[in-house]
Amino acid sequence: MSPGESLEKDPPLIELRGAMRSYSSGDQRVFALNGVDLVIQAGEMVALMGASGSGKSTLLNILGCLDRLSAGSYRVAGLDTSGLDADALARLRRDHFGFVFQRYNLLGQLTAVANVETPAIYAGLAPEQRHARAKALLQRLGLADRATHYPNQLSGGQQQRVSIARALMNEGAAILADEPTGALDSANGREVMNLLVELNRQGHTIILATHDPHIAAQTKRIVEFADGVIVSDRLTEAAVDCGAPQAETERPCPPVGNGGYLAPWESFFETAGTAWQALLAHRLRTALTLLGVIIGIVSVSMMVAVGEAGGRVLGEQMGEFLNLRMIVLYPGKQAGDAFAAYLHTLKASDVEELRRQEYVELATPQTYTTATVRYHNKSAMAAITGVAEDYFDFFSLRFDIGRGFTRDDVKALAPVVVIDDRVRHQFFYGANPLGKIIYVGNLPCIVIGVITPKRGLAEPGNRPSVFLPYTTSNARVTGRDYLDMVLIRLRKGGSGKEVEPKIIDLVTKRHHAKDIAVENNDAEVHNLVMLTSSVRMLLAAVGLISLLVGGIGVMNIMLVSVTERAREIGLRLAVGARQSDIRRQFLLEAIVLCLIGAALGVLICLVMILAANPFLPPGWTLELSPQALTTATLCAFLTGTIFGYFPASNAAKLDPVEALARE
Ligand code: ADP
Ligand code: MG
Repeated sequence: MSPGESLEKDPPLIELRGAMRSYSSGDQRVFALNGVDLVIQAGEMVALMGASGSGKSTLLNILGCLDRLSAGSYRVAGLDTSGLDADALARLRRDHFGFVFQRYNLLGQLTAVANVETPAIYAGLAPEQRHARAKALLQRLGLADRATHYPNQLSGGQQQRVSIARALMNEGAAILADEPTGALDSANGREVMNLLVELNRQGHTIILATHDPHIAAQTKRIVEFADGVIVSDRLTEAAVDCGAPQAETERPCPPVGNGGYLAPWESFFETAGTAWQALLAHRLRTALTLLGVIIGIVSVSMMVAVGEAGGRVLGEQMGEFLNLRMIVLYPGKQAGDAFAAYLHTLKASDVEELRRQEYVELATPQTYTTATVRYHNKSAMAAITGVAEDYFDFFSLRFDIGRGFTRDDVKALAPVVVIDDRVRHQFFYGANPLGKIIYVGNLPCIVIGVITPKRGLAEPGNRPSVFLPYTTSNARVTGRDYLDMVLIRLRKGGSGKEVEPKIIDLVTKRHHAKDIAVENNDAEVHNLVMLTSSVRMLLAAVGLISLLVGGIGVMNIMLVSVTERAREIGLRLAVGARQSDIRRQFLLEAIVLCLIGAALGVLICLVMILAANPFLPPGWTLELSPQALTTATLCAFLTGTIFGYFPASNAAKLDPVEALARE
């Protein structure tokens, strides 16, 4: 029987026909494989032997589905690989092959047992099962007491044995070993070869590449290479000693996995854990990247907090005004009517009627005049505003001292007066003016309250100003019976535009003529709202820019990390990870990084807020609202996703052979 032939009808494990693999170097083509026909049955132990550059590694990579043929065909257990996509190749690698490399390619951040487990992650094996099986394998290879050691705590021989255990993890049909003893001293090399021979005896197919005839001699079959072609293919004495390849008798462990990959959500915590380990492996770098994210998150949260606090302050000072959908009604056939002063038609009864309208929340009359006010020997020209009992509420005016008018004051034309802070200052200095009598024109009035009007919004000039019940002012100061103005506050949701025509209609009917005009403050309210939201947007923009800078930092570091961890990526691909698994891993790394940054950023923000609050101007309190927290978390997540995506897809697109060859 010639090597590689079998009496059974089953398709051979490996079948290469006319295999070519060429590389372009400059404008030449180099043929690393130049027409190779090779059949290997399950259970064989084959050495691919040849000088350096003869094409051994290229062939092993082809056999392991890490690389594709340029021409010819390759069948694995009868399955033609030429039509398979990347995911299908990954599945073939995972289910059929275990790789052993000259330089072991263990992941430095993982313990021996975790390294052995790696292939099973992609085979969908549950963590406990995986762990138990990895431990059993290590025990079988004599490494039970080294399970929790890290690669740099193991000798070369031990590391290679760990990598052999990893190759056995998914119970693949064949172990592909590229110069497995190449980095070992002769004693360790012998040990590893003994182990491979023993594994072959137990039924594992072993294909190894070597340039060393002594190593090759320990296998059962030597396929010799030169310049990409097979120059000889013969059985060794070892094969003659133990006869034909053994059937799969002593499979020590049952096949593993559920045969499928885990669904993305199933492997989420798995992958997040891997991401976490990778971040721990480069602490300084992780810390520096975190700093960028933290600064971004702190800015976003602080800006939101400041925006909210500012909004609250503004709201307190101007909120009433903002909510004040106000309509002002005054005499005049239209706005700016030159003869408005001669129209004396607006009466208290109009106000009564307006108050009864369902769209009106408040309606209050107002009159104006000027008069001299006197107290003892002091006098001043003052603005006299005649108002009703609800006027002060209407503008949310607060009394410095005393009170406003009652309904009875208004009904009874009571001689009571509310003065402003200017009159108080001018007439009374620091003394208490309540109960004192001042003259408004010729009318003696009792001072019952002092207010500081909100100046600036509707500045009535610098003139001191006093308030009388409008009835008192009309009957006892000016001798009029009409109003200068009616102030109307609409019910919530009402807009000036809709209600104005109704008001004009109503009053016009009552007066039998159109002799009033109206004005609303929609535009002013709108402007204020715009102003507040502009300020907020500005703050948000500043925060987002910092976050953007942080995000670019994340992307930068992730790109470096992908380059630096090319071998890790190559290895994961070799043990069966699909491109999507790699992409998800790196994406999650970026997201985990950003979420940690968010958590720390929010903490720092809280500390800053607690520290800052005592020193803020009155009325200001910073706090982290649920809204700010949500914004921060969402921003972090988005930053990770957006800036992690590009590096992650770069990682996924790496060519496994090339990645494994990187230093
Ligand atoms: P061996 O493992 O037997 O030492 P290889 O399979 O690594 O040999 O390489 C076989 C030939 O293919 C060599 O001439 C090598 O220069 C060439 N080769 C391998 N990989 C590449 C590549 N990525 N680009 C260009 N040439 C390559
Ligand atoms: Mg090689």
